Amino acid sequence: MSIQQILESQRQFFNHQKTKSLDFRLSQLRKLKQVISNNENLFYEAIAKDFGKSKFDTYTTELAIIYNEIDFYFRNLKKLMKPKSVRTNLANLPGSSKIYQEALGCSLVIGAWNYPFQLSICPMISAIAAGNTCILKPSEVAEHSMNIMAELFNKNFDSSFLHIETGGIDETTELLKLRFDKIFFTGSPRVGKIVYEAAAKHLTPVTLELGGKSPAIVTEHANLKIAAKRVTWGKFLNGGQTCVAPDYVLVDKKVAADFVELLKNQIKFNNYQAESLHYTKIINKKNFNRLTELIDETKTILGGKYNEEKLFIAPTLLFPVNWNDKIMEDEIFGPILPILVYENFDEALHQIQNHEKPLSAYLFTNKDSEIKKFINQISFGGGCINDVVMHLANDNLAFGGVGNSGIGNYHGKFGFEAFTHQKSILKRATWGEANIKYPPYSDEKLNWIKKLI
Ligand code: NAD
Repeated sequence: MSIQQILESQRQFFNHQKTKSLDFRLSQLRKLKQVISNNENLFYEAIAKDFGKSKFDTYTTELAIIYNEIDFYFRNLKKLMKPKSVRTNLANLPGSSKIYQEALGCSLVIGAWNYPFQLSICPMISAIAAGNTCILKPSEVAEHSMNIMAELFNKNFDSSFLHIETGGIDETTELLKLRFDKIFFTGSPRVGKIVYEAAAKHLTPVTLELGGKSPAIVTEHANLKIAAKRVTWGKFLNGGQTCVAPDYVLVDKKVAADFVELLKNQIKFNNYQAESLHYTKIINKKNFNRLTELIDETKTILGGKYNEEKLFIAPTLLFPVNWNDKIMEDEIFGPILPILVYENFDEALHQIQNHEKPLSAYLFTNKDSEIKKFINQISFGGGCINDVVMHLANDNLAFGGVGNSGIGNYHGKFGFEAFTHQKSILKRATWGEANIKYPPYSDEKLNWIKKLI
């Protein structure tokens, strides 16, 4: 069947109300969880082939997040689907008002390669939970991961409800010509603009989960040891190929030397090696070449070594870096950490404000006034105080960007809302009709209206 025919069959399926009942949604989520858990080994194998990711990392940063998201809906879907009663204003009495949670219809999810399972499957879970059909196009860059999802899900699900479309730019371009009721995209701001433009042709609502340069600020009031430990973990997780990884560090001049020393010690302690359990290689040659070109030897104070054959780049620290350096031009998306020094906290915030709004931002401090300024004065998708990355592991928090780092959010109930239309209905009683709004109009009626509204 062509992709157009699959989408048409999904539209029929949706229009025949097949996706909407609580039972159907839960049964599909149950099946999804079972298919994944029965085949966990295939997921581990595929991602290890794509970029040497360990079982430990694959479980903690991919499968656990997927299971957690499904379990969230097992616990909360019934409540989320319920129409919400709201107050009815005086002008509409007697009557009642409710907001119904309406499934948008046929959805398209486009995934990125760096966490190829959770970035594709979690939005798909939300689409199903919200009562939609779904076509998922995972990233072709993590080819084995894409193929295992296609093989398992296409075998186990009816394509008129759920279909995995494999392919790259050409296939995505074709998909984007079709009319969907929702497009959920994860990837770069550059491709996000292409998706947004294509969606605009059909006035299709989008969620765009994009990237950017996410800063970590370390102030003189930080617990430096904890900051070094957590920044090291978040930066070098997945070989630095994490959308919410701290892209660069801004550290107070007074503590910069101490902090850099602690970072070095932590990286050595973590013992990141090629093909080790604790470290992931670079996804492909193209990204490897892009990254190695960013390593400025004159500023390398740790690492800087790489192995082309194994696509391995050692955790690398560049210090001291300034905004004119090449490494500060674009999102790094690899295991290279530039460290910039600031003399005054307000100036550090100002530097962030002068650039595109990041997906995440992190602040290490124990001083409340700094936390307040950080939250109130700079715009970013989300973040942590005294940690990195972990905000996305709390499904009570909305996860998404702002401005150049994205539109909309998901995780937990926010994922449900991303695929749902809030349909507002006022139900009027047929008794107690006041004639005040009907012609013929008079000054007396106008006075009453003014009192009522
Ligand atoms: P990408 O934008 O290159 O690709 C994403 C998807 O778009 C892929 O499925 C790909 O096939 C498709 N695509 C690529 N070029 C296209 C084109 N010209 N026309 C139509 N479709 C096209 O992104 P990527 O390299 O997979 O991921 C890296 C980027 O994604 C980084 O910027 C990172 O920060 C961001 N990211 C964001 C999140 C988030 O949750 N916000 C998560 C992971 C990655």
